[in-house]
Amino acid sequence: MNFEYSDKTKENIKKVKGFMDTHLYPLENEIINYYKNRDTLWTQWPGFEALKEKARSEGLWNLFLPKDYGDLSPGLSNLEYAPLAKEMGKLRFASEVFNCSAPDTGNMEVLAKYGSPEQQEKWLKPLMAGKIRSAFLMTEPDVASSDATNIQTSIRKDGDHYILNGRKWWSSGMMSEHCKIAIVMGKTAPDAPKHMQQSQILVPTDTPGVEIVRHMNVFGYDDSPEGHAEVRLNNVRVPAENLILGEGRGFEIAQGRLGPGRIHHCMRLVGVAERALELMCRRVSERQAFGRPLIKFSSIRQDIAKSRCEIEQARLLTLSAADKMDTAGNKEAKDLIAMIKIIAPNMACAVLDRAIQAHGGMGVSQDTFLAAAYAGSRTLRLADGPDEVHMFQLGRNTVNQVMERAQV
Ligand SMILES: Cc1cc2nc3c(=O)[nH]c(=O)nc-3n(C[C@H](O)[C@H](O)[C@H](O)COP(=O)(O)OP(=O)(O)OC[C@H]3O[C@@H](n4cnc5c(N)ncnc54)[C@H](O)[C@@H]3O)c2cc1C
Repeated sequence: MNFEYSDKTKENIKKVKGFMDTHLYPLENEIINYYKNRDTLWTQWPGFEALKEKARSEGLWNLFLPKDYGDLSPGLSNLEYAPLAKEMGKLRFASEVFNCSAPDTGNMEVLAKYGSPEQQEKWLKPLMAGKIRSAFLMTEPDVASSDATNIQTSIRKDGDHYILNGRKWWSSGMMSEHCKIAIVMGKTAPDAPKHMQQSQILVPTDTPGVEIVRHMNVFGYDDSPEGHAEVRLNNVRVPAENLILGEGRGFEIAQGRLGPGRIHHCMRLVGVAERALELMCRRVSERQAFGRPLIKFSSIRQDIAKSRCEIEQARLLTLSAADKMDTAGNKEAKDLIAMIKIIAPNMACAVLDRAIQAHGGMGVSQDTFLAAAYAGSRTLRLADGPDEVHMFQLGRNTVNQVMERAQV
C-alpha cells in the first residue's frame, strides 16, 4: 500500500482539523463542565445540535459509512476515514458532532447492511440524520459475555410478536435522552446448533418493560450524556418485523458489526495518544526540576521516543487493516483487525501513562484530558472483546496458516 495520504484525504483532514480548531476545542472545557453538573447529567449541552448542523452543512457528516449516501455521507473508504477518526479521537465529543460516534456507527452499519427497507426507513434514516441515538445490548452480567454464545436473554415468538426477557449491562448510550432504539442480542432457539441460537432484534427504548436499573461508571466517570446502563428486559413485546435478517442470524450480524466498529476505536485511539504525546512534550519543555527543564533528563526523552515509535507502529497497522478491509473485505482483514484491536488500546494506555507521569500530580487531575482519556482507553482493552479473546483467535489462525503452508 502507498503510505502517503491522497490529495482528497489531505483536504478532508484539513477540513476536520479546521472545524475542530475553530468550533470544538474552544468549547472543550465548557462542554465537559456542563456534563459534570448532576442536574444536567443526561441532557445534551444546549449548543450541541447547532454544532452538528454546522458539521453537516460542511459535508463533515457520517464520514465512517463506506457507502455514498449523497449529502448524508460522502462514502469514504476505511483508509480515507482513518486519519479523520484519528483527529476526532483527540476530543471526547468530536465524533458525535460529525455523527460518527459509537454505538450509533455500528448500529447504522448493521441497519444499512442487514435491515429491511421498513427498518431502514424507521431507524436508519433518523440515525443518519443525527436526530436520534441508539444502543447495542449484548453483554450480560450473569454470563461471561466475551463468549457471546453464553448470552441468555430470551427472544420468544408469540404470534406476530416477540417477547424479550433478560438482563443486560454496559449498554453504552442507553442513558442519553436521545436514545430511542436498541439492538438487542438474545436467543430465539436455545436448542439449535451453538451459533444458530442467537438473533438480533430492534427494541424501541420506550417499549413497556424496558427498565433502566442503574447507570454504570468507568473508574468513577459517568461518561455523560450517553453513559452506560444496566437494563432489565421484563416481558418486552415488539412486533415480529423488528427481527433483523431472520431467526438464528444474530451471530452473523454480530461478526459483521464488530469489524468496522473495532477499527474505528483504534483509529480514534491513535489520536488520543498523539494528543497525549503533544501535551507531554509541551509540559516537559516548560517545567524545571533539579535545575534544568524536564526534557533534559534521559528517561523523559526515552519515554517520548518510545511513545513516538509505538504511535507510529499503531498508526501504520491501523492503515494496513483499513486498506485490507477496503481491498479484500472485512472477512479477509480479520487478522489485521484483531492485531490492531490488541495493539491500539495497549499503546494508548502506555502513552497516556507516560504523559501522566511527566505531568506529575496534574496528570491524574481534572485539569488535562489525560486522566479521562486513560479511563476511556483502558475500557477498550475489554469492550468489543477483551485482548485475550482476540489473541486466542489470532494465535489459532496464525498456527493454522503456518500448518496449511507446511502441507503445500
Ligand atoms: C465502557 C464499556 C462499554 C461497553 N459497551 C458495551 C455496549 O455498548 N454493548 C455491549 O453489549 N457491551 C458493552 N461492553 C461490554 C464488553 O463488550 C464486555 O465487558 C466484554 O465483551 C467482556 O465481557 P465480560 O465483561 O462478560 O467479561 P468476561 O467474559 O467475564 O471475561 C472476563 C475476562 O476473562 C478473560 N478471558 C475471556 N476469554 C478469554 C480467553 N479466551 N482467553 C484468556 N482469557 C480470557 C479476559 O481477561 C476477560 O477480560 C462495554 C464494556 C465497557 C467496559
